[in-house]
Parts: sequence; structure tokens; C-alpha cells
Amino acid sequence: TRSFEFHLTDEIATVAMGNRVADIIEQGAVIYLRGDLGAGKTTFTRGVVQGFGHTGKVKSPTYTLVEPYELERANVYHFDLYRLGDPEELEYMGIRDYFSADAICVVEWPEKGGEFIPVPDLDITLSYVGNERKIVINSASERGIAIVEKLNN
Ligand code: ADP
Ligand code: MG
Repeated sequence: TRSFEFHLTDEIATVAMGNRVADIIEQGAVIYLRGDLGAGKTTFTRGVVQGFGHTGKVKSPTYTLVEPYELERANVYHFDLYRLGDPEELEYMGIRDYFSADAICVVEWPEKGGEFIPVPDLDITLSYVGNERKIVINSASERGIAIVEKLNN
């Protein structure tokens, strides 16, 4: 199975979904998060980061582009490329160094990064369903397929 869909009734469900994905990830993963402003990308990321053991807040790194969480279980890097002007800036910040095989990289607004960000394992889209949300998780690699298979079981 290559894709997993789920209805998220509220913020708690979105966080729980992020937790669930974190629990399934065995090694590293590159996760793209697509969706309009307010769709729940940062909320979902909070679930992932807290799932890896972070206990504090999770805020979108809109101005700094990346927020690192160097945790016991894994290094999780949260990117928000919304305000990225030129994708070449990513080259200057040494973006490739973050994407090691065992890191979890969650990227909001990946479309702004062009070819400067690695291809994903999971390509996720969050969308509005009235006041609620829907998540579609597409696998985009062997690693991603294994994760989606577990979500479907
Ligand atoms: P984004 O990062 O996509 O711009 P945020 O996660 O920052 O979005 O904000 C999402 C907003 O929607 C928050 O106010 C959050 O409380 C709310 N929210 C998150 N998930 C849901 C959901 N499943 N149903 C309704 N509201 C949600
Ligand atoms: Mg956000």
C-alpha cells in the first residue's frame, strides 16, 4: 500500500497522528508537509517531535528556516520554507548536512525548496474539511512504503 488517509476531527487528533508516525519510524525519514496556511502542518509536526521525546513547545521556524531537536532517540529537524526567497539560500545554510540517513526531517512548504531539498519518504497533504482536517500520507520511497503499510495495519 502506497497511501493512507485519515479524518482528523480536532487538533488532538492531528497531534496523535504525528505521534503515531513517530512511533513507526525506525530510522530516519524525510517528510514533506503540504497544505494551506492553518491546515495543521505545524500541529502534526508537534506530534512527531513530541513522539520522539521532546517535551517543550514546537513553533514553526518561519524566520530561521530550521529548528533542530537533538533528542535521545533521534535528531529531528523541522523546516518551514514559507518565507524562503531564493532556494539557493538552502545551499548557503548547508541544508544537506541535516539530511543524514538517520535524521528525521520534516519540511513545511517543500515546494519552495525546489531541487535543493532531498526527495521525501513520505509526502503528506493536510486539507480543510469544514472546521476539521483530512490527512493523506503518500509513500515516496521503499522506506515510506514500509511506514504506510504499518499505518494501514
Ligand atoms: P500550518 O502549519 O499548516 O499553517 P498550524 O498547525 O500552525 O497550521 O495551525 C493549524 C490550526 O488548526 C491550529 O489552530 C490548530 O489548533 C487547528 N487544527 C489542527 N488540527 C486540526 C483539526 N484536525 N481540526 C480542526 N482544527 C485543527
Ligand atoms: Mg506551519
